[in-house]
Amino acid sequence: MEVLRTVTELRQWSRLSRCTAASTIGLVPTMGALHAGHASLIRAARASCSHAAVSIFVNPTQFGPREDFARYPRSFDADCALAASEGAHVLFAPAVDELYPNGPDSTFVEIPCLSNRLDGASRPGHFRGVATVVAKLLIASEPDRAFFGQKDAAQVAVVRRLTADLRLAVEIVACPIVRDPDGLALSSRNAYLTPAERGRALILSRAIRQVESLVAQGERRAAMLIASAHGVFACEPEVRIDYVALVDWSTLEPVEIAVPGTLFAVAAWAGSTRLIDNSILN
Ligand code: AMP
Repeated sequence: MEVLRTVTELRQWSRLSRCTAASTIGLVPTMGALHAGHASLIRAARASCSHAAVSIFVNPTQFGPREDFARYPRSFDADCALAASEGAHVLFAPAVDELYPNGPDSTFVEIPCLSNRLDGASRPGHFRGVATVVAKLLIASEPDRAFFGQKDAAQVAVVRRLTADLRLAVEIVACPIVRDPDGLALSSRNAYLTPAERGRALILSRAIRQVESLVAQGERRAAMLIASAHGVFACEPEVRIDYVALVDWSTLEPVEIAVPGTLFAVAAWAGSTRLIDNSILN
């Protein structure tokens, strides 16, 4: 597996990888600190594309001024080993000024109708940063498919809207959430949790399962589903809810009645760590 540092190298790799008409390129954008959730995306890329690129970039523009950019876990050597063992062909790991050559005066991509919804409401500017960096990665690598985790479901909505609006010829593939055996969704930020916080954090997946089971019993009313999730969270008062929401997965607008494909999403703080989880209801 080759490590690429510049956009020019990534572009060249992409062009060379299109050696035959049957060649396809899959891109897996990440912020590193790779775990089994990321590995599942790399495997999905390898399974459906002849060439797979993984990017590792802790994108400063998607962090707020008081967020965890500086202390975000970084484990480059272990990440290289994991990406290589999953069969990635290249790993793109640029420096910040490679992707933002004009620093704060760079061009940004904004999706006004989505930017203040869900995580965007509590993390102003977050989706603007995500949309901008994903646009840069897609334009540089020109993949046939890009692989994202359903874990960040609102991000998937943002990226789908971005590619539709910018008319980028890439298919956005959402891969299932990978969880620890006890239900906690894997996240690089789980490393911040103390053992006690990790135990309390299980309340997110319990709330998700509760809502899934109510839907399976026929409950469709958003108010009832949301109230029931709040009831589950009440069992863990030290976990502070950011949002509990039932929304349309494309527009991220609240819905009153759940239908197949509706997104049920939660965000909550366990200590100083903000965690998210969700389910696409069926
Ligand atoms: P991150 O490095 O946290 O920005 O995540 C990079 C990609 O991996 C995003 O598309 C995430 O949604 C995805 N991802 C993170 N955690 C998981 C997980 N537990 N299961 C599946 N995909 C995940």
